[in-house]
Amino acid sequence: MRNSLKYKITLTCTLVLFSNFLQAQLISDYHISKNYNCSTCNLKSATIHSFKTMRVNIHFILRSNGTGNFSETSNINGNPSGENGYWLADVIINAANNYLFYNLQMTQQLSYNPIPVEDINYNYKLNGVFFHRNDSFFECYYSPSSLIRNNGSVINVFLFAGNDGRGAAGYDRLWLGGMSQAYTDYLNYSNIWFIQHDANPLNHEIGHVLSLDHPKRSPGGDTCIVGGVQYFDNCDDTPTFMELINDGYTNPYQWCNGQKSNNLMDYSCDQRALTPCQINQVHSYIETSFSDYLYGNFQNSYAQITSFSENTAYIAETVEIPTGVSITIPNSKRLYIEAQELVINGEFEVPLGSTFEFVPFGL
Ligand SMILES: [Zn+2]
Repeated sequence: MRNSLKYKITLTCTLVLFSNFLQAQLISDYHISKNYNCSTCNLKSATIHSFKTMRVNIHFILRSNGTGNFSETSNINGNPSGENGYWLADVIINAANNYLFYNLQMTQQLSYNPIPVEDINYNYKLNGVFFHRNDSFFECYYSPSSLIRNNGSVINVFLFAGNDGRGAAGYDRLWLGGMSQAYTDYLNYSNIWFIQHDANPLNHEIGHVLSLDHPKRSPGGDTCIVGGVQYFDNCDDTPTFMELINDGYTNPYQWCNGQKSNNLMDYSCDQRALTPCQINQVHSYIETSFSDYLYGNFQNSYAQITSFSENTAYIAETVEIPTGVSITIPNSKRLYIEAQELVINGEFEVPLGSTFEFVPFGL
């Protein structure tokens, strides 16, 4: 039944562009609410101290003529550059992991209930980078299931050029806009932070994938109304809107000053902190419902590579290029393998300019 949730996000071409002054902050996102077996926040993960690494694929949606986004060989402005899609994927995943490594104290605290800072204990492994050339998907900011790679084993992240500040998350996939703005700011200010900072909304969307909700916003990001609807997540230690108001806050929704929240699942200029409950919920969700996505957890014992033209990532205990098969990786393309054992019985060529990435699991 859970799989039926996979297709519940619907995106249209009618999204309105906002101004860009809120760089790398979510101004709107939408997610499905998982609410898996959790009516109150008292989930305690049995494996919270076991560090967990989730596989992540990065996808770039380009126009059909190859422009409009980072490609295998060029930057987002179409210029041949080492600052290509592979580079961007590394920058944003490394930054995301760095943010997750250093949990922060919650800025929004209740005077009577201090929130401790605990280790987050999860991060990501970049499983593969993929490029798609399709005008409809580019213009609509849409990523259909046909673009998913390693279905059921990897969180698929789609990075779009426009729609800065917007994102969405489904069951095991998400999309994030703003790559053009981030790269332009990086060039203008000679500061890689402008790209790294997009790791905050990336971590937010993956937080949704890992079952977290907004502490005090609707699934669409709307604020609650005093005296009207009040939204909650499943966590008792994330202060609610009314708890904050009753404890002296006048505006718990501020973006970047004064009383702003820095919780990863709130909207602000600094989405960083996770509470002990949120950390427990993520670890509980992974161990009960999402373990197939853990790096090193193989769903297939064997996979064969019989041809190669576009970037592909293979995940199996044993991966083989069988006898009689001849594989040559084209220029600028990449073959990714996660396995305990790689068997090459056929012909395998990695010419200059192409890349073969294989790190035996456990090394
Ligand atoms: Zn969100």
